[in-house]
Amino acid sequence: MANEVTIVTPEQRDLATVEVSTRLVACDGGGGPLGHPMTYYEVGPEGVATCNYCDKKFVLARPGGEAHG
Ligand SMILES: [Zn+2]
Repeated sequence: MANEVTIVTPEQRDLATVEVSTRLVACDGGGGPLGHPMTYYEVGPEGVATCNYCDKKFVLARPGGEAHG
């Protein structure tokens, strides 16, 4: 689980914001001629990572049943 990575799919290429469930994300712009080299990002404490190539935002989705204390 800790090493899981969310990779952007071609269907998410046109989305400005992608909701992810892992802290590690990989973006290649969706692939194809409009894509960019596969780059990995780690979602920070604020829960958001931004792709330096295509400005896509990755927002960490909070698990529904998060336990407290
Ligand atoms: Zn990108």
